[in-house]
Amino acid sequence: MEDCVFCKIRKGELPSTKLYEDKDFMVIKDINPQAKIHLIAIPHEHAPYIDMMTEEGVLLLGKIIHKIALNRDKLGLKNGYRLLINQGEDAGQTVGHIHIHILGGEKLKEF
Ligand SMILES: [Zn+2]
Repeated sequence: MEDCVFCKIRKGELPSTKLYEDKDFMVIKDINPQAKIHLIAIPHEHAPYIDMMTEEGVLLLGKIIHKIALNRDKLGLKNGYRLLINQGEDAGQTVGHIHIHILGGEKLKEF
């Protein structure tokens, strides 16, 4: 999508601190961190909501979660982390492109 911040980041039209990228998704640092470590995993497929994703895209979310788990030490998340997907206005979704927040690097508040 032309006006999507994450699609623009992928194309290099907006700056970001990219930690990882492959053919399916990328991981960047959140510019407004809510924890000591706050990363965002962003599938390349543009879809605002999970119900608008292709089946392949939904399966990719599982692969991303697994990849995060396998690389948690490298990401500085050895002691644990929280994954979060905000969907819609009530949840505070700010970018209309599915993404997984990865929070950690410190003891997170329970909720
Ligand atoms: Zn997008």
